[in-house]
Amino acid sequence: MLPSRWLADEMLGRLARYLRFVGADTAWVRDLDDREIARWAAAEKRFLLTRDRGLARRVESSLLLLSPYVEEQWKTLRRRFPDLPTEVRFVRCSLCNGTLAAYAPPADRPLPAGVPRERVAAGLPLYKCAACGHVYWEGSHTADIRERLRRWSEEGSG
Ligand SMILES: [Zn+2]
Repeated sequence: MLPSRWLADEMLGRLARYLRFVGADTAWVRDLDDREIARWAAAEKRFLLTRDRGLARRVESSLLLLSPYVEEQWKTLRRRFPDLPTEVRFVRCSLCNGTLAAYAPPADRPLPAGVPRERVAAGLPLYKCAACGHVYWEGSHTADIRERLRRWSEEGSG
């Protein structure tokens, strides 16, 4: 069964961001020892993704990802969980794991940096993180991520 919540260890920050892009609730560990990480995973029923053999042994609901490359990590994860979504969804903030909600910028205020004004005027939907305020939209960055996820997921199924 596909876990609904994940915990990525310190060495899996990039993988955590991809998981958030497909809408998965993914916390990212920083500056904690193994015992604290195990306790966090248990307390919030999060499935642990780790590059640390000792930690993988200690936590029952975990997957050991030995590769340092996010592409290989993603493929290994999908072999274990073939139901893992592969489509970019604007649900989770890739930076902080906060939840995203549709956002209509006030007409009398400047748009957040980088937001394409003409496309917003033409109806481009925006999404804002409730926790950190980061604004997301469908653009070249998400197109790159979609393309990468599609490629990794196809190759991973062979
Ligand atoms: Zn955020």
